[in-house]
Amino acid sequence: MACEQYDLVADFLEMPVCDRERVKLPKRAITVAVPVQRDDGCTEVFMGYRVQHHLTLGPTKGGIRYHPEVTLGEVAALAMWMSWKCALMGLPYGGAKGGVACDPGKLSRGELERLTRRFTQEIIPFVGPQMDIPAPDLGTNEQVMAWMMDTYSTYQGHSVPGVVTGKPVLLGGSVGRREATGRGVAFLANRAMDTLGIPSAGATAVVQGYGNVGSVTASNLARFGTRIVAVSDVRGGVYHEKGLDLRRLDDHVARHRTVVGFDGGESIGNEELLLLPCDLLVPAAMERQITEENAAKLRCRVLAEGANGPTTPAADRLLASRSDVFVIPDILCNAGGVVVSYFEWVQDLQSFFWGETEVTDRLYRLLENAFSQTLKFSRERRVSMRTAALALGIERVWKAKQLRGLFP
Ligand code: NAD
Repeated sequence: MACEQYDLVADFLEMPVCDRERVKLPKRAITVAVPVQRDDGCTEVFMGYRVQHHLTLGPTKGGIRYHPEVTLGEVAALAMWMSWKCALMGLPYGGAKGGVACDPGKLSRGELERLTRRFTQEIIPFVGPQMDIPAPDLGTNEQVMAWMMDTYSTYQGHSVPGVVTGKPVLLGGSVGRREATGRGVAFLANRAMDTLGIPSAGATAVVQGYGNVGSVTASNLARFGTRIVAVSDVRGGVYHEKGLDLRRLDDHVARHRTVVGFDGGESIGNEELLLLPCDLLVPAAMERQITEENAAKLRCRVLAEGANGPTTPAADRLLASRSDVFVIPDILCNAGGVVVSYFEWVQDLQSFFWGETEVTDRLYRLLENAFSQTLKFSRERRVSMRTAALALGIERVWKAKQLRGLFP
């Protein structure tokens, strides 16, 4: 998907063929075996990956994913998207991504800690505050980042908070980082609804994936009076036509670790949920959820891509032909996370920490800037919002490579 999108945009930008591979191919791709002692005494070996897409604009930056289906190819695609996202947002980074093929739900806390520390040890030569800065993603959280930072710091002999972002605030994390992606998704969804003349108060939203991004998006939308009519996680979803009571839902999730079984709505499947009539649909779970099969049947006005790569290229072509769905593409829509990660890194390097209002105001300013540039490009050049966002990001990386030379 990432390569197909890149090729289309390279054609659109009329990039000379001799420049294309250099901008496309990842600079480094690392595969490591991660042996972990399980609680029963057996040793299991997990496969870990880190891909650094380009080093032209500064260190690389991107999340670490724990999921059974993590592969080198998936990580490489996500690293490439991070490059375009960082460039679109004007951040001094290349893209990276990493992951371990494992099911974190089936590991004890001790096993998760041993896996994280060993994976970090394996990639130590390739990461660091000026080299590559991991962050949380699917299946990882603040605690995982704390273990990574601690393992790296132990090797250096002193604390190095700037090696990862998305850490607990107590260890040099930034206030507002945990909420940043969801806050950004809600901000841009409101911005898009505003562009279309849909008032946020009274609008309806459906959120697929009720993890970090999905739950924060839902609560931020609700704050502006939007009714969250359905949410889901990997086990299934819940639906209430008049809007779910999020406070009660969050209590249920805290107790049961799933939205399934919540008594404030009816149960609904993940496929069915995507097709509900609503003003706003937020896929905030996995890749490839909006496909050729369901794209023509979506009944939303705005598709706000909280997840990375939720829409396949074939679905994208179908959506581009539908003037009734406004797409906020992933590299713009979920960029709030990397923006506040950047703020966290800057604060760590300076050992000078900001308040929540400063973080959120600066976040909204950067998102507003990127949204209006993308909308302007899309309208002036008559291309989809996705092509516009990708073209802005890819062109900046390409121009930077031309300015620098062959080294990075
Ligand atoms: P998370 O692990 O906190 O939550 C993921 C949620 O999706 C969980 O509720 C899980 O049960 C659900 N889910 C998983 N597979 C599903 C499926 N097949 N159908 C329905 N639900 C499913 O992860 P997150 O950090 O919220 O990340 C979600 C997405 O957002 C990912 O695509 C990630 O790459 C992207 N993203 C995250 C951040 C961030 O800061 N966390 C930043 C940018 C993009």
